[in-house]
Amino acid sequence: MDMVVSCARFPAPGETVLTDDLMTFPGGKGANQAVAAARLGGRVRFLGKMGDDVFRGQLLESLQADGVDTEHVLVDAESSTGVALITVDGEGENQIIVASGSNMRLTPEEVEAERALFDEADVVLLQLEVPVETVERAATLAKAAGATVILNPAPACELSEALLRQVDILTPNESEAARLTGVRITDRAAAEVAARRLLAKGARHVIVTLGADGALLVSAEGARHVPAREVHAVDTTAAGDAFNGALAFALAGGQALGEALAFATEAAAYAVTHRGAQASMPTMDALTSAETAEAR
Ligand code: ADP
Repeated sequence: MDMVVSCARFPAPGETVLTDDLMTFPGGKGANQAVAAARLGGRVRFLGKMGDDVFRGQLLESLQADGVDTEHVLVDAESSTGVALITVDGEGENQIIVASGSNMRLTPEEVEAERALFDEADVVLLQLEVPVETVERAATLAKAAGATVILNPAPACELSEALLRQVDILTPNESEAARLTGVRITDRAAAEVAARRLLAKGARHVIVTLGADGALLVSAEGARHVPAREVHAVDTTAAGDAFNGALAFALAGGQALGEALAFATEAAAYAVTHRGAQASMPTMDALTSAETAEAR
């Protein structure tokens, strides 16, 4: 759950600042990505963990309203649901503290116990707001079941070659690609250098997302740049989540990677023209109407 407070200025250490502007929004990378895929019409099952608290009910309800199957969301009575405390000052600067809570208590064994889920999946989409050992186990189960594995390495952390070898498509943004490889991403050429390092460590395809410059797909066969649609961006929150959810949706529907990449870029461009995280994810109808309006 994202809790956003706006105030004229950040408090100094020890200081109290008053505001009446508190808003809560369902968030989290995994949930945002699940909503992105479901809203486009995908059949999505969400595997995760929440605390036994008030946020769980609100988050489950919101995921279900978007058609996400939440039957496999586990409950941990000993920790709280993951929360992001976001403070925004009068200049629009933000400070964020993420209290991971139950997310960091999702174990490899718990994922293993849900192995039947993987047998039914065409695509398994993973991110790193849960422990990396758990992600590694999920990737192994997904691969063994013949699913396509997408890993959005966010927030970036050290990834083992054992994990990268199970990944069909790795989707870092520029700062994550830099963090994973030590290559400063200043342009497309640098993004390609970073992507090639990640291929060498075992990933089959790497897509570096480049914000308003679109995305770069790199694999053994070569590199291909897909430009982003030129839009008036109003809020880039969760652009990457829209991108990943749409990519998973398109691949599950049988699209080839190049085609799925172009589709994901369109969905993400839509998301940046709308405010919010989950609120900005397009339906297929919204996407088609936006493209038709653009073509006129
Ligand atoms: P993240 O949101 O993870 O930081 P990016 O900023 O790279 O990731 O954005 C992900 C994708 O969203 C990009 O590859 C692009 O397709 C789309 N996108 C982001 N910003 C814009 C923008 N200003 N205009 C159009 N598309 C954008």
